[in-house]
Amino acid sequence: MKLFSPERVFFEPTSLKYPLGQKLLEYFSARDIEIIKAPIQKVLQSIPGETENHKYAHAKKTLVITTKKALNLDICKPSADYEFSLVTNCPGNCEYCYLHTTQSFKPYLRAYVNIDDIFNSIKKYIDKNSGNVTTFEVASAGDPLAIEHITGSLAKTIEFFGSLNNGRLRVVTKFDNVDSLLDLKHNSHTRFRFSINSRYVIDTFEHNTANITERIEAASKIANAGYPLGFIVAPLMVYDGWKDQYKELFEALAKRLDLKNIKEPITFELIQHRFTSTAKNVILNRFPNTKLDMEESKRAIKWGMYGRYKYVYPKETSDEVKDYISQLINNNFPDSRIEYFT
Ligand code: SF4
Repeated sequence: MKLFSPERVFFEPTSLKYPLGQKLLEYFSARDIEIIKAPIQKVLQSIPGETENHKYAHAKKTLVITTKKALNLDICKPSADYEFSLVTNCPGNCEYCYLHTTQSFKPYLRAYVNIDDIFNSIKKYIDKNSGNVTTFEVASAGDPLAIEHITGSLAKTIEFFGSLNNGRLRVVTKFDNVDSLLDLKHNSHTRFRFSINSRYVIDTFEHNTANITERIEAASKIANAGYPLGFIVAPLMVYDGWKDQYKELFEALAKRLDLKNIKEPITFELIQHRFTSTAKNVILNRFPNTKLDMEESKRAIKWGMYGRYKYVYPKETSDEVKDYISQLINNNFPDSRIEYFT
């Protein structure tokens, strides 16, 4: 897919004290892209747009170069022990995006340049874990691969984890520009997962992301480069024809991957569609014609993180989804591992 290029870039003054901040300033100065040097508090008021939705569209094309101030890491169950960020938000525009709940008022992208501070923080969490392996998720607040061609931060992070005995990195993406990562010294310490879904879900709800063929191609390259490989199938949705389309998905995946040459078991993480009331309001505002099924009366309520209720499928439906998708995975990928269904 076409690589992302922002409309405007903000540089927070402190970001320019870091080598990556300087590198990015040079990168954008050599291109015809508006550069604004201003504190992060000025970003929202400087994004053009007469209506909220126009502002949102421009915010998605606005990149803020800044530093990560809070270096304490949150727990990230069930996918890893902790999460950290190289970027927040992403240029994709998925209607169901989980970030609608937490980032709806700040939908612009942020890239952090104090990478060494972030690495030092990670080392402290590993040291506290008494010689056990600690896992870290890097894509829970955004998609770092979406701007990797600009920052190069993910490559640096993969090599950092490659050098650690007891640290493991987990990446997930809906983008496909993996070529710059294929020759890195990853030491098999990074599990690279691709977010995949049925034709209907990708075509209807996942705008400005790589299409399924591109994602599968990228997954194949990553597997051939020796990375442990995984897939997050999310959000799993129930609609007319869902069973046939998920069957088609797993068959296409198994056909394209060179399974005999993939040494570590491929992992699958399964997440059913859910939404919060906050997200529903934001989604209806931003995508008034959305076809997302967000009818609360047809859902069960589950207590989620950050003190919010979320709406999931009723138990009977979620059991059916779990059993059916697990069966498809076991049929097509007999040596794989399903890590969780939630
Ligand atoms: S790619 Fe991921 S982070 Fe980006 S909009 Fe889609 S769901 Fe959200």
